[in-house]
Amino acid sequence: MAQEAQLLGTLKEYFGYDSFRPLQKKIIDSVFAGKDNMVIMPTGGGKSICYQLPAVLLPGVTLVISPLIALMKDQVDGLTANGIPAAFLNSTQSENEQQEIFSKLQKNELKLLYVAPESLQYIDAVFSAGNISLIAVDEAHCISSWGHDFRPAYTQLGYLKNRFPSTPMIALTATADKATRKDICNQLNIPHAKKHVASFDRKNLSLEVRPGNKKFGQILSFLKQRPQESGIIYCLSRKNTESLAEKLQEAGFSAAAYHAGVPNEERSQVQEDFINDRKKIVCATIAFGMGIDKSNVRWVIHYNLPKNLEGYYQEIGRAGRDGLPSATLLFHSYADVMQLQKFAQNSGNAEVQLAKLDRMKQYSEALSCRRKILLSYFGELIAEDCGNCDVCKNPPEFFDGTIIAQKALSTIYRLQGQEPISVVIDVLRGAQNAVILEKGYQQIKTYGIAKDISWRDWQQYLIQLINLGHIEIAFHDQNKLRLTSMARNVLFENQKVRLADVNLADIQEQKVEKEEKAAKNSLFERLRKLRLELAKEEEIPAYLIFNDAALKEMEKERPMTDEDFMQINGVGRQKMQNYGYRFIKEIIAFSKEKREKKKTSKGKTHKVTLELYQEGLSVEEIAQKRGLTATTIYSHLAKLYDSGEEIDLHRFVSAADLKAIKKARKTLNDPDTLKPYYEHFEEAIDYWTIRLALTILERES
Ligand code: ADP
Ligand code: ZN
Repeated sequence: MAQEAQLLGTLKEYFGYDSFRPLQKKIIDSVFAGKDNMVIMPTGGGKSICYQLPAVLLPGVTLVISPLIALMKDQVDGLTANGIPAAFLNSTQSENEQQEIFSKLQKNELKLLYVAPESLQYIDAVFSAGNISLIAVDEAHCISSWGHDFRPAYTQLGYLKNRFPSTPMIALTATADKATRKDICNQLNIPHAKKHVASFDRKNLSLEVRPGNKKFGQILSFLKQRPQESGIIYCLSRKNTESLAEKLQEAGFSAAAYHAGVPNEERSQVQEDFINDRKKIVCATIAFGMGIDKSNVRWVIHYNLPKNLEGYYQEIGRAGRDGLPSATLLFHSYADVMQLQKFAQNSGNAEVQLAKLDRMKQYSEALSCRRKILLSYFGELIAEDCGNCDVCKNPPEFFDGTIIAQKALSTIYRLQGQEPISVVIDVLRGAQNAVILEKGYQQIKTYGIAKDISWRDWQQYLIQLINLGHIEIAFHDQNKLRLTSMARNVLFENQKVRLADVNLADIQEQKVEKEEKAAKNSLFERLRKLRLELAKEEEIPAYLIFNDAALKEMEKERPMTDEDFMQINGVGRQKMQNYGYRFIKEIIAFSKEKREKKKTSKGKTHKVTLELYQEGLSVEEIAQKRGLTATTIYSHLAKLYDSGEEIDLHRFVSAADLKAIKKARKTLNDPDTLKPYYEHFEEAIDYWTIRLALTILERES
């Protein structure tokens, strides 16, 4: 078994990391013990290290079964950039290329070999050519027809354990549900595999849900806060992805559409452009993103409500794989709920689907910490509110909504439960459209009694009333709103109703905007540019050079020597050799510019003060003229005096004060701070007078 120090050394040398994440060490130990292992970690949890690090140390080759041919090159490039010999084998390669790989296998020159399940015909040849130390099955849930992403080719993998029983296997997945987990082990013939289940909490993902009104406008302002960042917008329909991408392009954003109907070639182009930061935004159906190992996706938007929380969590999980803060935003709309309900009813197992949709809906309408709800769905309970969801950041304020509720309920009562939400709101707001006029609804007693509440707010209040159980939706009857028996208590017995205020989000948004502006001229931006340049030179995705987290750490630590640079999390030996010089150079250049700028701006500001002083202005006048405080001007004058300028400090300190301070200096034993003087004079002489007096005394002695 490998020793702790050796593992940590390898982790740093080849992957650049200083420590293991929870579970990684345990899993790796278990791999070295020759056991079969099943790893369940959320997307971005760090599964790859669990087989890539053993692969480096094991004597032979680690065979990796991975579902997406398109991503293999990426994985192999990543390993190569870290100095780990790796290759992939698939049917798109020429015979020559394949021969070369086999010959490397024979010479034991590879540490990892990627093969798609569709290419298992090569397996026997691979095993006889090379010494296979470990088999890793990535995205293992694809083997289960229970899972949400079943791939028929995966079912063949069961034979691997029969054929090569003594080669240990490690299966990895981010799937959460128990039935699938068990099924995976059975299908792979590793029923006794050691199971490692990591926490699904992804603290770096902020969670936010907003009402889906004027979505495009909301998206634009969201994007303006993140001009350089990559992200995905998930839509329900293909048409949506296209129209949204088009509108974003028109608004000047680098966006593309992706869905199953786009021709293959174009699709992989979009994917590649996204991975390489040539396209920043992809508007996609859920077909996009599976297995995409792009660590710097900074945000994910759900344009429509997802079908269930599994899908939602997996999709937002594609953001922030590097562990840096990333934003997720879900638009909740009543129309989506209706549509998904229809889909669910027409599906094979309507009952399960409807129940799952219901949990999705509860989540998006939550008035308490969303992460708690989400994680409890995956069987994980957290004690504290998360502090990183919209509900935690802007807890709803409840108010006595009895009158609002009564207005709504009595309108539904008068409409005899015959109208959907939109007509109910129109009546409440006194709209004059065709439906209202045709049906004579302006005669209803409550017509127009709540014009003061906006359409959007009414929608939110009605949803709350539905969730509180006062109203129900007749799904089978054109989604008409009807009263429940509970509504009677509100209408006729004056039962109180507490509603949550729906108008809190705007302030938060303005705050964020300010913060984002400050980030533009940072070292991080400079390093990001350099990284992009290098990526272009080498034709590999930028994040394979260093991920955003590593750049952030460089920005913070400003390493200027090789040793310091090696300390950055994410810098291994190979990357130090390849990129260290250029990054260090950039950091030094940046720091120097910054220093000089500071110096010149400081030098300048002193000079301006000096000129005004020479014109004979008083401190107060200079301060006023320059828009600075008197304190700042005093400090300028002291500095100018120190540096030998002709400043008559006696103009600011009376002879009496000077004498007193001189005396105090002796009794106080020449302290090196001002406070003792200040206290000595019981605050009768201010700090600046003391400071200037001491400067004079210093010069005189
Ligand atoms: P998964 O396959 O589980 O989605 P990855 O293996 O791609 O996740 O890892 C996600 C991110 O976390 C990657 O950017 C990876 O480099 C980083 N990472 C993994 N392990 C560590 C570690 N021990 N320390 C720091 N970063 C790590
Ligand atoms: Zn929360």
